[in-house]
Amino acid sequence: MEIRIEKAKTLKEKPIASTLGFGKVFTDHMLIVDYNEKEGWHDARIVPFANLSIHPASTVLHYGVEIFEGLKAYRRKDGSIRMFRPLENVRRMNRSAERMCLPQMDEKDMLKCFETLVSLEKDWVPSENGTSLYIRPFMFGNDETLGVHAVKNATFVIITSPVGSYYKEGINPVKIMIESDDVRAVRGGTGEAKCGGNYAASNRAGKRAEEKGYSQVLWLDGVERKYIEEVGAMNVMFKINGTVVTPMLSGSILPGITRKSCIEVLKSKGYKVEERRISIDELAKAMEDGTLEEAWGCGTAAVVSPIGELCYQDKHFTVNGGKIGKVTQELYDTLTGIQWGVLPDTFGWTYPVK
Ligand SMILES: *Cc1c(COP(=O)(O)O)cnc(C)c1O
Repeated sequence: MEIRIEKAKTLKEKPIASTLGFGKVFTDHMLIVDYNEKEGWHDARIVPFANLSIHPASTVLHYGVEIFEGLKAYRRKDGSIRMFRPLENVRRMNRSAERMCLPQMDEKDMLKCFETLVSLEKDWVPSENGTSLYIRPFMFGNDETLGVHAVKNATFVIITSPVGSYYKEGINPVKIMIESDDVRAVRGGTGEAKCGGNYAASNRAGKRAEEKGYSQVLWLDGVERKYIEEVGAMNVMFKINGTVVTPMLSGSILPGITRKSCIEVLKSKGYKVEERRISIDELAKAMEDGTLEEAWGCGTAAVVSPIGELCYQDKHFTVNGGKIGKVTQELYDTLTGIQWGVLPDTFGWTYPVK
């Protein structure tokens, strides 16, 4: 794949690192690749960051055919830049595309897209503690017709955004509401694809939780509303009686790269990890008898996010006295240590950007 580069005539001023939030500031350029049945993926280009122009009948606007990814590039002390496990995102994007009948993109080509854009925008990768450049690839169906079919035209775009430290004043445990009405996904649905529609359907429960002072929702399975699935945009793990337990990938849960990395780190440190079904009854019992020792969410944005309080059907449970647990802290330190190059990358997870 050849990527044409059209540089922006004027560059934006870089924001001060301490004012960076999440996904509010975008860099000077974006990458676009078009797809149609005849030419396949073609006209890969990096252009100045600007609004997209799409046909009002474009598939994505009516039928929500859209998938996305999220990964980060980190600047190390020596100034070099590395992405974290980018090939995992490439592969998951293609799996999501398969589910939505969007076209596959060659793995090397997609990786080259990530790399070329980050390399051009390298001055935007912040260096302050806890900051990184968030990379958001997305793909959408772009047929110019209201007919409902598997799409014949698609657009692949990458935008990048410098993001601040997720934790402003140290790691603060979050309060999570267990949702017993709305469900996020069912087996056979789109839960294991990273698609925009999953988020559209989860906003109502998220809004209700926020109104009650909770930061995110913990979802139960869509059939029996009995088994734990995941938290908002993160997978979830519990330490019960010394063992780390996380819901197994059942078809309705997003297979997180942070989840996978946590499991690999925990096992390498000798922790017992179980991927299995966990019922809300088992969790409630562990909360009541005190065997729930730690709980945390894991995902690219926060890396590891301790859960300090869980609420289920108006009952409140405090986890580990509302403080971050030992294993949660160890996981956070290990993963971020590898990401920022403070610890050796014994797993070979970091990918240098020239
Ligand atoms: C992206 C995402 C995650 C976390 O995946 P990572 O690869 O670890 O960032 C978890 N759940 C949902 C619903 C997601 O969209």
